[in-house]
Amino acid sequence: KTKNPGENEFHEVVHEVLESVWDMLQDHPTYFRANILDRITEPERIIMFRVPWTDDEGEVHVNRGYRVEFNSAIGPYKGGLRFHPSVNLDILKFLAFEQIFKNSLTTMPMGGAKGGANFDPKGKSDSEIMRFCQSFMTELYRHIGHNTDVPAGDIGVGKREIGYLFGQYKRLQNEYTGVLTGKALEWGGSKLRPEATGYGTVYFVREMFALRNETLEGKTVTISGSGNVAQYAAEKAIQLGAKVISLSDSDGTVHDPDGIDEEKLKYVMHLKNVERGRIREYARKYDVRYIENGTPWNLSCDVALPCATQNEINADDAAALVKNGCGCVAEGANKPAQREAIRIFLENEVLFGPGKAANAGGVAVSGLEMTQNEMRIQWLRKEVDSKLEDIMKEIHSSCVAYGDTGNGYINYPQGANIAGFIKVADAMLHQGVV
Ligand code: NDP
Repeated sequence: KTKNPGENEFHEVVHEVLESVWDMLQDHPTYFRANILDRITEPERIIMFRVPWTDDEGEVHVNRGYRVEFNSAIGPYKGGLRFHPSVNLDILKFLAFEQIFKNSLTTMPMGGAKGGANFDPKGKSDSEIMRFCQSFMTELYRHIGHNTDVPAGDIGVGKREIGYLFGQYKRLQNEYTGVLTGKALEWGGSKLRPEATGYGTVYFVREMFALRNETLEGKTVTISGSGNVAQYAAEKAIQLGAKVISLSDSDGTVHDPDGIDEEKLKYVMHLKNVERGRIREYARKYDVRYIENGTPWNLSCDVALPCATQNEINADDAAALVKNGCGCVAEGANKPAQREAIRIFLENEVLFGPGKAANAGGVAVSGLEMTQNEMRIQWLRKEVDSKLEDIMKEIHSSCVAYGDTGNGYINYPQGANIAGFIKVADAMLHQGVV
């Protein structure tokens, strides 16, 4: 804490990972001798830079850009870019640290990174977004590359932004490589990348239930968020026979007790992705309850999929979920459940899939996008989908291998942390003190 003062989010995740691996470390003194703990918690490199841009009225603004290149022991740095006013170094260090172990779990050769800017894309015109992305890349380009660091999208960075970022990179470097993932299908993207995180989360839930000989068929599911992850988690859950009863955004939650079916979800996708509207419009259109400034965590459900943002489930929310019969929570978002909330889920033996395992499908398909770019081919949707299913099964098995408490209950956060940690720590040992 003295080394990283005030970085509360970062302390929190470091604490969580080290707590999980501590007992295992006692049996492996080589990790201590090589001081792996100090090394793994120190980013290899942090880049911070000025991002000046001009709005449509000619006024000049300055934002702060970041790239945290945390760990490259098992492959090139990989992780998303986030454009949101809340972005700061603490949040990006926490996300990059998580990304190391998530990427390790995917079974693919990817290191951990995260980046972004404290820029608010809301209400900006298309040309303002383009100018911002071009200015951002004018500094970032010298630090990234298809064999060095391959950023992707995250909150506020979708296909449009990746397009502008890629265009500027290509212009500056004069080369066409897979330096970013999340590209549009027509020029280097992978089939199923938009769906991957949400689908992957639901595949992970399916595996958790399969271990108990249960399925998602007929289960009631609450989802928060209505962005990329939420939309496709809803789509896959519906396809597997579940009833999805909520979606939300930062203004409030819609509760549709009859279930959001494929038709209604199509409307949500248009509303959010094309009109860039608010979720309250759904409540007006389908005449259902809108909970202003509220979350879905007081609704009764079998499964909860937090797919909006970090820290969105506190201890009271967790207690309400348990009380209302929720038996499974899987994190589509990164760290939506606070530490106290996770403790409540584990104590009550709720199946709890932590983000680094449950939402790893997104980065896994980004890894598959990198492979396709290197091979200069594009796989069919069904090929990518079947690889994604296999990867999510593999991640689930790793969690079970290291998280089995011996009484039939799987401590997934512990399993994910240990499995992710061992691979990276061993690679660091093999590579010497670097
Ligand atoms: P989007 O920007 O597409 O959607 C984010 C959604 O969350 C929006 O509905 C947004 O509402 C809502 N939201 C944001 N902040 C808040 C808040 N403070 N309270 C309530 N709702 C909020 O992002 P993604 O769907 O891509 O990402 C969602 C989460 O998933 C993030 O944690 C991200 O890091 C994680 N993730 C994403 C991956 C991906 O492939 N996209 C991969 C792995 C993890 P509003 O419109 O009002 O802001």
